[in-house]
Amino acid sequence: MAAIEKYDLIVVGAGPAGSAAALVAARAGLKVIIFERGEFPGSKNMFGGVLFGHEINELIPNYWETAPVERALIEERYFLVSGNSATTIAMRTKDFAEPPYNGFSVLRARFDKWFADQAVEAGALLVCETLVESLIMDHGKCVGVKTGRADGDVYADCVIVAEGANSLLTRDAGIHAEWKTNEVGVGVKELIKMPKDVLENRFNLTGQEGVSMRILGLTKGMTGGVFLYTNKETVSLGFVAMIEDLAARGFKPNDLMEEIKSNPMIAPFIEGGSTVEYTAHMVPEQGYKSVPRLVHDGLLIAGDAAMISNLLTGEGANLAVTTGRLAGEAVVAAKAAGDYSALGLYSYQNALDASYVMKDLKQFKGFAGYLHGNPDLMDLYPQLANEFLKGLLTADGTPRGAKAKALLAEVKKKKSLFGIAKDLWRGWRVIK
Ligand SMILES: Cc1cc2nc3c(=O)[nH]c(=O)nc-3n(C[C@H](O)[C@H](O)[C@H](O)COP(=O)(O)OP(=O)(O)OC[C@H]3O[C@@H](n4cnc5c(N)ncnc54)[C@H](O)[C@@H]3O)c2cc1C
Repeated sequence: MAAIEKYDLIVVGAGPAGSAAALVAARAGLKVIIFERGEFPGSKNMFGGVLFGHEINELIPNYWETAPVERALIEERYFLVSGNSATTIAMRTKDFAEPPYNGFSVLRARFDKWFADQAVEAGALLVCETLVESLIMDHGKCVGVKTGRADGDVYADCVIVAEGANSLLTRDAGIHAEWKTNEVGVGVKELIKMPKDVLENRFNLTGQEGVSMRILGLTKGMTGGVFLYTNKETVSLGFVAMIEDLAARGFKPNDLMEEIKSNPMIAPFIEGGSTVEYTAHMVPEQGYKSVPRLVHDGLLIAGDAAMISNLLTGEGANLAVTTGRLAGEAVVAAKAAGDYSALGLYSYQNALDASYVMKDLKQFKGFAGYLHGNPDLMDLYPQLANEFLKGLLTADGTPRGAKAKALLAEVKKKKSLFGIAKDLWRGWRVIK
């Protein structure tokens, strides 16, 4: 690679944010290069499994016809687990099984490769197995990147950093400090294979339909949760927990994963299946409060590297696509104006602020703190819901009115009604 090579845009990372940025810029005719440290895009990537499709569909209409999607998610199931019981709140609609669909389960090793290929087809150059080691700065302006290759300095008018949650490049460039252990979580996932008909019977699915489950009560009070998503012939089962909580309690992620798998409410979903993949990854947890300055001279930050994720809704990958797209569009505008200064690139920030991404992040900015300050939400509330409902449903000859009173008295021993009302009120305040 020649040291003097110059591009309009360098994109670091071929995840959803990087590929979206590269696709938009390449389509507009810019000379774009993407560096990806993995053997191929997606080879090092993982997530729970839900890709909300609206953002991809805007970029690649009817993406599901060519993208390697697994199942169209028609049901969102909230599962509150304690002991031998689980209370389920579920919403299923066949409307999500029809175009334009709401979202699909996807496997990142396949999806990221396909998405990066779209950018390549549009004209971007993708260079894999290449780690960007640092940003090249000149008088406070980013002018390129230093890669791990011989003669690997590459220059561009603008760099979009889409390196994911680890964010080493921007940290080393002094844009933000090391993420604190309450700003990031760790996610662990097993991909569990089982015959297609077994999976479909188990989850009451036909054709391409799939189910998404968010499970509370199994993280031992740690901020986070368990997820289970159905793929074509596998289920993705895993959890996310705040690093601070894992460290404070001394839990090993693998031990917790084993406990989750053997829980009597979870085990039947994976019975007879065999684990074919085990992965772990960092995830931004704090949302809006951790977002660093995203626009610099010659430099934009997108996706998880910008700490943009929504803990409440579980969205991350689609937000990454939107931030990547908006960053790419800002670079296209900057090229037209011949101004790659922070001012010239500021349309990225303006577009982000005007989009659902920042509006949601701002609105829910207190949510992570609320969860973290209320371990009862992760543990005690699922238990109370199960005990109360199980008691109420038990037909044992006790009049229901007397039973409800007695059950309420039991609830109050564990959490006062005032305490419950306070938690509900605070919850409402942070999301309203
Ligand atoms: C356990 C878990 C479950 C999740 N579940 C969901 C979910 O169900 N739905 C959802 O929408 N979101 C989910 N997320 C969040 C989602 O994964 C992220 O928001 C999304 O992947 C962010 O995309 P990105 O492109 O910003 O970063 P990434 O997907 O992390 O991509 C970054 C890319 O940059 C490359 N890279 C990094 N550093 C360098 C470097 N120095 N040089 C070259 N290449 C580099 C990486 O190899 C990678 O390909 C989950 C996350 C986790 C951890």
